Amino acid sequence: MLDTLRRILEAVDRATSLNTALNIIVHEVKRAIGADVCSVWLTDTERREHVLLATDGLPTSEVGRLRIPLNRGLIGRVAERFDILNLDDAPKHPCYLSIQHSAEAPYHGFLGVPIILHRKVLGVLVLRRRMPQRFADEELTFVVTLAVQLAGAIALARSSGELSGVPTPSGLPSRFLAGIAAAPGVGIGTAYVVYPTADLDAVPDKPCPETAAEIDAFRAAVDGVEQDLGRVCSRLRGMLRDEDQALFDAWRLMLRSDTFLGATITRIEAGNWAQGALRETVTELLAEFDRMDDTYLRERGADVRDLGRQVLLRLQPADAQQHEFPAQTVLVGDEISAMQIASVPRERLAALVSRAGSVSSHVAILARGMGIPTAVGVQDLPVSRLEGRPVIVDGYRGRVYVQPTAVVSAEYRRLVIEERAFSAELDTLRGQPAETTDGYSLPLYVNTGLVVEQRPAGGDEAAGIGLYRTELPFMIRDRFPGEETQVEHYRKVLQSVAPKPVNIRTLDVGGDKSLPYFPTEEPNPFLGWRGIRFTRDHPEIFGTQVRAMLRAAIGLDNLQLLLPMITTVDELDDALLRIQRAVDELLEQGHPVRMPPVGLMIEVPAAVYQAQILARRVSFLSVGTNDLTQYLLAVDRNNARVAALYDEFHPAVLRALVQVVEAARAEGREVSVCGELAGDPKATPLLLGMGVHSLSMSAGSLLRVKGVVRSMSRSRARELLREALGCESGESVRRLLTDALEEIGLGGLVRVGR
Ligand code: PEP
Ligand code: MG
Repeated sequence: MLDTLRRILEAVDRATSLNTALNIIVHEVKRAIGADVCSVWLTDTERREHVLLATDGLPTSEVGRLRIPLNRGLIGRVAERFDILNLDDAPKHPCYLSIQHSAEAPYHGFLGVPIILHRKVLGVLVLRRRMPQRFADEELTFVVTLAVQLAGAIALARSSGELSGVPTPSGLPSRFLAGIAAAPGVGIGTAYVVYPTADLDAVPDKPCPETAAEIDAFRAAVDGVEQDLGRVCSRLRGMLRDEDQALFDAWRLMLRSDTFLGATITRIEAGNWAQGALRETVTELLAEFDRMDDTYLRERGADVRDLGRQVLLRLQPADAQQHEFPAQTVLVGDEISAMQIASVPRERLAALVSRAGSVSSHVAILARGMGIPTAVGVQDLPVSRLEGRPVIVDGYRGRVYVQPTAVVSAEYRRLVIEERAFSAELDTLRGQPAETTDGYSLPLYVNTGLVVEQRPAGGDEAAGIGLYRTELPFMIRDRFPGEETQVEHYRKVLQSVAPKPVNIRTLDVGGDKSLPYFPTEEPNPFLGWRGIRFTRDHPEIFGTQVRAMLRAAIGLDNLQLLLPMITTVDELDDALLRIQRAVDELLEQGHPVRMPPVGLMIEVPAAVYQAQILARRVSFLSVGTNDLTQYLLAVDRNNARVAALYDEFHPAVLRALVQVVEAARAEGREVSVCGELAGDPKATPLLLGMGVHSLSMSAGSLLRVKGVVRSMSRSRARELLREALGCESGESVRRLLTDALEEIGLGGLVRVGR
């Protein structure tokens, strides 16, 4: 027996997962003792039940499904009393509980041994025998010895989350639900589910007895919603940039439009009551949006539906309930609207989770602007079962923990505290130069534009704006903004940091960012008509934008122009020619413009291989690692299904970066990195080691990255880069960097986040 025990324990030791170990145990023990069933039950005190974890003898389909209430049955008794139960005829015991599906009626002999660690029962090891016969002493000690070994393995698996995948009877997973990280941070609170405010689809048609009164009621409802929008808009003022406030103007315009207001009134005049007429209008508009089959337009469709519901709510009898929001509200919904976000007092709003959405959806844009940890695109979100449940949202990784275990909660609380302490510590870096310990300066810039920043900490620290994305001003209007509108817009941006430089990027629509008034339908939008490809085919749009940028910079001279998605030399030459032409024309027209420094973004693998030829033609290069990673690894950056494959630390990405820096150096050009990698403190040593000249990131990352720059010498950074380039996987690169930062006391910078 001792030999058998040693053999089993060795096999368990070698097992790579708890599951494998458990299966070895149940098979081997059953065989060694000659029992008919051997099972391991896991005790879940939070859910107050025991769940079947492994078995040899019961149907394996019951694993993870078969459950016994905590203090019921023989297993309950073993766990409750911390005691061994050895019976010759189990069904005769007063605690005996016949378990459905377990086909256990024919079993008489029963041995239950508690699996205990630190005076806590983790589970029960059970042996069954058909014969009415107790287990021998030797068999009993054998099982007890194994149960002790098992306790350590179960505890380890529990804390690592390996066990949390066991499904629960409520269908709520105790592991995390995966979504898309939409706004960073950790939010811990109580789920508050938001449903559509009013159900438009349920509204019937009804004849309208008094047309004039019905039209008045409808107009009043529209006025009311418009006023609500005004209130919400002013509440968010100061948190959002001007162009983002324009979202609200777009909604107001929609409310007042002929297609919405006019069409509904016409329908009322035709005899339908206001609610029915409204439903008809919204349905028709939605059908139009749906037909366009464009991501951005579908999101606009959601806006129309939301506006329709708001108007409907005002038309329906007043039963609008006063919401009582939990102190730490985690707003959860299939779709969450801006209105719903704004209805929660900011100090109560801990996090957002929505089943729909992508990083570029409105909810994501607003959340980032307001600094609310957010996960979107959480496809398996059981919305209807979440109300009032404790939830943790990891906005760094897009994870949602429903009813988290004590271990997970403790870990996240620790992270939140650590984050706070770190931000306080990081604050001391304000005003200090971004310089390595051996005096190498790495200017840090901020990215603005598409993502709305709430003027977050670190913004004033920047050396300038390294990337100003111009898509948003184009996306929130219902037509292309004209030259004057754009001049005004860019002027504000340039002025906001003058004399520091601003890299304004020409329009980079396409992919996941499309224009509502320029619908395109492509099977592979990320490989399609985007960035420079689009503007090259529309020289009038490109020309207007460039003219506006040049004019906006008159007298400020802090404009640098950035070209996205360059794949061929032709594209670049063509763009440079057009920029030169715009300068010449404006000069001829008497505008004292100057040719700004022009840079190109390295985002496509082809541009990496031709970096030197491209660099020769421009003033500087800027690497867009977000796109470069997705194109190098062939992983859609917005697709939750392949999110685990998207890895900016993949050795191929690092090698591409090295190649670009070397190519630029050969031509005497500077290189900046402006993708998300630039804001990841783990990447800082590598980028420093490569000799990247500057980094541009979201303002919130600035102090963290500065912390690394100031704690490291350039020679150490080069050493780490050398080691990283020797790694075979992104994971080992991350481990190397995490260890290196831990070593210099900066572990806190990397523990939270990707
Ligand atoms: C990038 O691709 O890294 C980048 C900065 O551009 P965007 O994220 O706007 O595509
Ligand atoms: Mg890009």
